[in-house]
Amino acid sequence: MNKAKVIEIKRFAVHDGDGLRTTVFLKGCPLKCVWCHNPESIDFKPQVAYYENKCIDCGECVSVCPSGAHKIIPKGHIFERDLCVACGKCEKACLGEALKFYGKEMTVDELLPILLEDKDFYETSGGGVTLSGGECLCQADFCAELLKKLKEAGINTAVDTCGYVPKESIDKVLPYTDTFLYDIKAIDENVHMKCTGKSNRLILENIKYIDSLNKSIEVRIALTTNTEDASNGEFSVFFGLSSLKGE
Ligand code: SF4
Ligand code: SF4
Repeated sequence: MNKAKVIEIKRFAVHDGDGLRTTVFLKGCPLKCVWCHNPESIDFKPQVAYYENKCIDCGECVSVCPSGAHKIIPKGHIFERDLCVACGKCEKACLGEALKFYGKEMTVDELLPILLEDKDFYETSGGGVTLSGGECLCQADFCAELLKKLKEAGINTAVDTCGYVPKESIDKVLPYTDTFLYDIKAIDENVHMKCTGKSNRLILENIKYIDSLNKSIEVRIALTTNTEDASNGEFSVFFGLSSLKGE
């Protein structure tokens, strides 16, 4: 049974494909986009986020942490991240909801019933389930098993990918994916390097490959005020994602 590290399961998503969808965000990404709005999704390892403004200094985390990562000092609570071994206990104990554990390991059979809960909404809205991240195809075996079971249950499926994965990873999910939501961060290779830390050659090769198989692709592009911003790696104004649909 394949397992994946899950960041979040988002119900009633309306920006991750057609209709009402449940989006599953998996942890780990090969790119490091300068505008990344989900920084917790980049690292492949599980992580704990600490929201200092929510902390009420109750000390519950201190009593459950096996590695002494949490301490209460006269000035209040401190979190020594380097000591954390990612057991997840402090998130459950935290009374202020100041701690969030990203990267819970789940099997396909644990995830599937949660995703099927909203089947009626998918059917009435033309929606379904979207796998996203991070880069979900870095955990391609898990994605393939989950997507296969979703298709067997009659659910529309989408894969939101940055495309920076081996072609073999795409091949694994192709038979069970109705639509690819495909991020093109920049066409110019140098701009792409500056914005994401990686070349876009593999990404462009992969989208051509998917297109050659006549799969449905929705291209998503980042918008900036001007290309100077992009080439400088500065995104002081970022409007979001624009989509271009094609079948
Ligand atoms: S996840 Fe576990 S090890 Fe890490 S800080 Fe929380 S309780 Fe401590
Ligand atoms: S359990 Fe949560 S609210 Fe309490 S001290 Fe720890 S981080 Fe702060």
